[in-house]
Amino acid sequence: MSIIPTLPDYIFTERLGKGSYATVYKAYQKGNTRDVVAVKCVQKSSLTKSSVENLLTEISILKKIKHNHIVELKDFQWDDKCIYLILEYCSGGDLSHFIRSKKRLPEPLVQRFLQQLAKALQFLRSQNIAHMDLKPQNILLSSVSNPVLKLGDFGLAQYLNPDSEATSMRGSPLYMAPEILLKHLYDARVDLWSVGIILYECLFGEAPFSSSTFAELAEKIKSSNPIQLPYGAQVSEKCKDLILKLLQRDPNKRITFDEFFNHPFVDLEHMPTEETYSKGVELIHKAVKSDVDGEYESAINFYSQALDYLVPHLFHEKDRSRRKEMRKKFIEYVSRAEELKKLSKMKIQSQKNDNTESISNSNPSFEELLQSKPELKKGIYLAAQADALVSSECYDDASEVYKVALELMISAVSGEPAGPRKDLLYTEVDKWMQKAEDLKSYISIRKQEKRLARLSSISETVSYDKSKEQIESTCLIQ
Ligand code: AMP
Repeated sequence: MSIIPTLPDYIFTERLGKGSYATVYKAYQKGNTRDVVAVKCVQKSSLTKSSVENLLTEISILKKIKHNHIVELKDFQWDDKCIYLILEYCSGGDLSHFIRSKKRLPEPLVQRFLQQLAKALQFLRSQNIAHMDLKPQNILLSSVSNPVLKLGDFGLAQYLNPDSEATSMRGSPLYMAPEILLKHLYDARVDLWSVGIILYECLFGEAPFSSSTFAELAEKIKSSNPIQLPYGAQVSEKCKDLILKLLQRDPNKRITFDEFFNHPFVDLEHMPTEETYSKGVELIHKAVKSDVDGEYESAINFYSQALDYLVPHLFHEKDRSRRKEMRKKFIEYVSRAEELKKLSKMKIQSQKNDNTESISNSNPSFEELLQSKPELKKGIYLAAQADALVSSECYDDASEVYKVALELMISAVSGEPAGPRKDLLYTEVDKWMQKAEDLKSYISIRKQEKRLARLSSISETVSYDKSKEQIESTCLIQ
């Protein structure tokens, strides 16, 4: 049984776990703040040459890294017995325990975790670091109720030049890329394979090659059969596509890092963060402005871009009432965009019809019809007047005139016996009726201008409130 270590500045409590070369304890910092930390203790006596290398690599890497999705190394100390890494405490434990406790995780949550993992990997890549030992045990969670993923344990990480390749055996067999086991040269792309396995395990509860013996595992990894999802797996097409692209046995056929970061299931661009929320809000402001200026096409574009940024926040907002409020607001944006689509269609239509000469008028039999139907002639004349009123933005007047015009046209239809003439009449009346209907809905939409003004003021108040919302750190298990 290991003895709980001591450090002058910390009070050690329970043991959190044991890794390949260290034991991790929970501890409190002495003094006023009593900050909770995790202390990773490595007994010097247990250090082999490779453990020392592992540890020194971990220290040197972690010390330089500050990232929201990477466990922070706050400090490190040593005494004659141990080397102590003072780490940010992650009360949610590791992802492996989390998956076991839930059996499997819902896709939106998996997507959220994946985005966070991808962010960490993207950052590591920018620092020329490959992790090389990605597995759920090395992925920690900030808390159980509101878990934010933190990548830890860089014992096996190494600085990689873009074209450098390693030949030594690294990683954990279950998560290990086939090229490692097959003893070929391998590189940072092994991390992509491991991401695929982790993704698979999160969604289906166990890794694709889970086996009772190493020999069985080795056999499965060596096989050339393509990876398949469990029978009846219910995942989105995007998600399935990504897993299969990550779990390509041949690293040359595997998805590349850039493709991974840009894959629609990862979609880092729209990952719910403080920045994407602000981007969304900014786009709403632009949408409302274009809307007020009557620039419908650009307003529609801005609304839809804004929603791409804002909607993912909805799925990860933990506070019920805040979520309800957000949903309501987003629905308003969606329906406004829909209304604008209608308006824009109408605008185009009305431009087409600016020429008051009806296309039908050029039809000789229609001309005949007009001569024999004075009500129709008058009706069409009035309808054209209504069109002119629309162009002058006198919408209510136009609506009234359409009404009278249609009454006249309908009376012309009623006396007409069935036949091609009547069909022609119907077509004409139908056309004007459609226009009158469109105008009606346009008027009702215009009446919502007040609502729009309210919308505008709402969008201004949707500025990010860190303390209340914590969207970056919020993860909803639905
Ligand atoms: P490791 O040696 O990093 O693999 O850690 C072994 C186990 O200790 C992990 O699987 C976690 O359960 C736990 N652990 C490690 N680091 C932390 C931490 N910073 N906060 C909470 N638990 C941790």
